[in-house]
Amino acid sequence: MATAGSTWLVSNLAVEALRTSTGQNLEEIAIQFRDKIDLDLSERYNDFNVVSAFITPLLEQGREAELAPIIDSLQDNFSSYAWIGFVSPEGVVVESNGGLLRGADVSQRPWFNQALKQPYMGDAHDAILLAEKLYNPTSAPLRFLDLALPLRSEEGKLLGVLGAHLYLDWVANMGQSLMTPLRRRLNAEFIVADQSGVVLIGPPGSTRQRLPDALIEQVKASNSGHLTTKLAFNDSLAEAQDYLVGFTRLQGAAEYRSFNWLVLVRKPAAEAFGTARELQKSLIIVGLLVAPILLLFVSLAARWTTRPLLSITREANQWDPEKADTLFQVREDYAEVKTLSSVLRDLVRRLARKTRELNELNAHLEQRVADRTQELERVNLQLETTARTDSLTGLSNRGHYFELGETALKKAARSNSTVAVIMFDADHFKKVNDTYGHAVGDRALVRLAQMALQALRETDILARVGGEEFAIMLENTTEQMAVEVAERLRASIEASPLVLEEGELVLTVSVGVACLKPGKSDHLETLLVLADKALYAAKAGGRNRVCRYTEIMSATDKPGATS
Ligand code: GH3
Ligand code: MG
Ligand code: MG
Repeated sequence: MATAGSTWLVSNLAVEALRTSTGQNLEEIAIQFRDKIDLDLSERYNDFNVVSAFITPLLEQGREAELAPIIDSLQDNFSSYAWIGFVSPEGVVVESNGGLLRGADVSQRPWFNQALKQPYMGDAHDAILLAEKLYNPTSAPLRFLDLALPLRSEEGKLLGVLGAHLYLDWVANMGQSLMTPLRRRLNAEFIVADQSGVVLIGPPGSTRQRLPDALIEQVKASNSGHLTTKLAFNDSLAEAQDYLVGFTRLQGAAEYRSFNWLVLVRKPAAEAFGTARELQKSLIIVGLLVAPILLLFVSLAARWTTRPLLSITREANQWDPEKADTLFQVREDYAEVKTLSSVLRDLVRRLARKTRELNELNAHLEQRVADRTQELERVNLQLETTARTDSLTGLSNRGHYFELGETALKKAARSNSTVAVIMFDADHFKKVNDTYGHAVGDRALVRLAQMALQALRETDILARVGGEEFAIMLENTTEQMAVEVAERLRASIEASPLVLEEGELVLTVSVGVACLKPGKSDHLETLLVLADKALYAAKAGGRNRVCRYTEIMSATDKPGATS
């Protein structure tokens, strides 16, 4: 389609170019023809001027008889004169070629009347007086052009008029002589029309017909040119076609009025562009035939070009970056494919290496994350332990004691068993600090903790709940059992003095014991208050002793006891 379209376009341009150049050729021919007519007319005018110069002295001398040979020689000089004659100022023919119309009265003829005043050139008209006197081989009436000149004496007196009728065929003959070789080469025809557009000379059947108005308008609008138009004079099929027409107008000369004739040369447009149209058709046909072959060739070439590319694409799609050793095949199909596949091979190799490095880095990173997590868990655990541990003694602190104690209390409430709380406090500890210093005080506190740990079971709860104050919780334990533990503890402390440089430091503690079978609403705080009260009683009772809460209660119950 595209081939046919472009062929059509190109050949149309070619046809257009041909139209212009043929049109210009026809215009040139019309101009040549016009120039020849102009030249012939001006020659006739000059002839007349020369002859009048001869005749005038003869007339002045009354030698009219000598006019005949001069007039004859004028006709010999130009065969298209139908009639040449000298007419007296009154309009009577004095002398003429072959004596034609001699003595006739032409005073009413327009050419005579015009020529009385000035040189006159008359447009084509039918022969009137001469129609029957002259030989006419055609059936059409004879047509003439008029040429007439006033003859005057040196003083300006009118001596008569020299007049002539020219066969209009003269133009036709001239056209023929010019056109014959052209017709052979170009098959062109000429048409001459008067200024109103009526054909004077032209193809058979055209004479006296008017040219189309549109054509007349266009021809009159410019001095010369060319166009394509319908230009039929008959109904014949041969004429019903477009013509390429070159045209111009007669120019005339300064001394006489021109006829303003229209001169046209026409040629059938189909003929003018026939070859080009044929060529256009052939080109389109060839284009349509060749296009599928080209298409086939192009598609084969495209397939040949894309096959290795498709194969590379397939290989690239199947390539697994994990299998880093899989190598891209370098293809040798053609230079570009070779370059592309080797570039891809390098790229893939680099990609595989990067993937391997990334995998290693990932594994390393995972290990680091695991290590960090473990470390974090350890630190967390440590933090937790630290949060609930007393840093000096390593025992549970007050917070942790409450946490563990509450749980044990709830458990006891559920199992309906008894729990015991032992609280002990170093005696006169301020004095220890004051006497031996704070560091020794610390060592003493650590010793107390160790002694307590030794005195207890692993499941018992022990904590440092104040400065030099400790608390114990014993699950599933009666008051008696608790008192025994307390007493054992007190005694072991008293019996294990701290060895100092200064000597032995005997430490003692006062101990309070409280026991309870807790209900669901009981809290550790309650039990601690009871134990604290017992501890207070132990202090009040002289220190270094164990006191039971129940003991204080029974003492206060006794009459006269003070709190
Ligand atoms: P009491 O027998 O009545 O308990 O007398 P006390 O001196 O032990 O009791 P008090 O409450 O008057 O004094 C307690 C002292 O314990 C005061 C304080 O300096 C000391 N103390 C508390 N915590 C620490 C500690 O962690 N290290 C040391 N070195 N001394 C401590
Ligand atoms: Mg205290
Ligand atoms: Mg104390």
